[in-house]
Amino acid sequence: MPIIELTNITKTYPNTKAPAIADVSLSVEPGEILALLGPSGSGKTTLLRLIAGFEFPDTGAILLGGVRMNSTHGFVPTEDRRVGMVFQDGGLFPHLTVSQNIAFGLYRYNKIEQDKKVSEMLRLVSLESFGQRYPHELSGGQQQRVALARALAPNPIVLLMDEPFSSLDPDMRARMRDEVHAILRRIGITAILVTHDHDEAFTMADKVAVLNAGKLEQIDTPEMIYHLPQTPFVADFVGSADFVSGEVKTDGFIHTEIGRFPNEGKHPIGNSIVVMIRPDDIHLVPDRNGIAEVISKQFRGSENLYALTLPSGQRVHSSAHSLAFYPVGTRVRLELTATHTVVFRDDKEKAEK
Ligand code: ADP
Repeated sequence: MPIIELTNITKTYPNTKAPAIADVSLSVEPGEILALLGPSGSGKTTLLRLIAGFEFPDTGAILLGGVRMNSTHGFVPTEDRRVGMVFQDGGLFPHLTVSQNIAFGLYRYNKIEQDKKVSEMLRLVSLESFGQRYPHELSGGQQQRVALARALAPNPIVLLMDEPFSSLDPDMRARMRDEVHAILRRIGITAILVTHDHDEAFTMADKVAVLNAGKLEQIDTPEMIYHLPQTPFVADFVGSADFVSGEVKTDGFIHTEIGRFPNEGKHPIGNSIVVMIRPDDIHLVPDRNGIAEVISKQFRGSENLYALTLPSGQRVHSSAHSLAFYPVGTRVRLELTATHTVVFRDDKEKAEK
């Protein structure tokens, strides 16, 4: 049984036209980590707040642990939903010590149980000797670990995290992702992470739900989201992608100006198709008779990202090892190393593999 089950959730804020969440259905299995991924304003925080009970849906059903949270008879309030929350800035109480912060949600426990739980949580987040410190005496990463400990102390069935690493510097962010991921796995809790960063979603989550303007575009494993995006929006949002126009010809292949691709979606002959191609799928080889020309190069550390122009004027990108150097103006031929093809019908809306 899923721990979280949302069915046809729609939420429109007062005095706004478009719904912030439009007909979203998804479920999260026990112990699974789900990332809600999308650009700013796509509805991620709204969805999290609906699950937490800070907002109420106009329509649809929310079930947590198999129990309906909303119905025509009323709503289960946040404090009875058994959800733990970690916010962007930690949200620790500045006048309480670390231990007091962690004990804050333990009002249903007696003092002995509270102390035991606080020690257990301090151990979990490796802050055993920090119990008597105040939040301002901690680093940003330590504050977020306390926030995590505070959220987990009352044994929630679900942990909700809203951009929990965004206020940390990049080094600390990467370390915290690993640490928090290991902690969540160790205790096996079901969790939802809100992020606009696809790398963060991919490294932390078992499944990624991509939101765009309140709609769920795709929910899948990170690998499927990256390699087999179901819509051009997802393809573009989770990594560099170029879209090359083509047509299904009588030989059954999709012909484009950079080569032919298998017609995996079995589109009819004559259909206009857009093929998605990522920079790591295109290998460039200097060739005086090549159809493409290097127009720019970006140094990216271990690789160079080349922008190339095709005879039609369309641009595509190719990543090459940074020791390979091709000056602007070099004519090149393109070798496609795509192990799979992702194609969309050319109407940008009704996308399909
Ligand atoms: P995200 O977390 O992806 O940035 P939000 O859930 O915060 O997106 O916002 C989704 C949409 O709802 C946005 O258009 C935002 O302006 C709108 N919105 C969010 N909160 C409110 C609110 N309290 N009142 C009115 N509109 C809101």
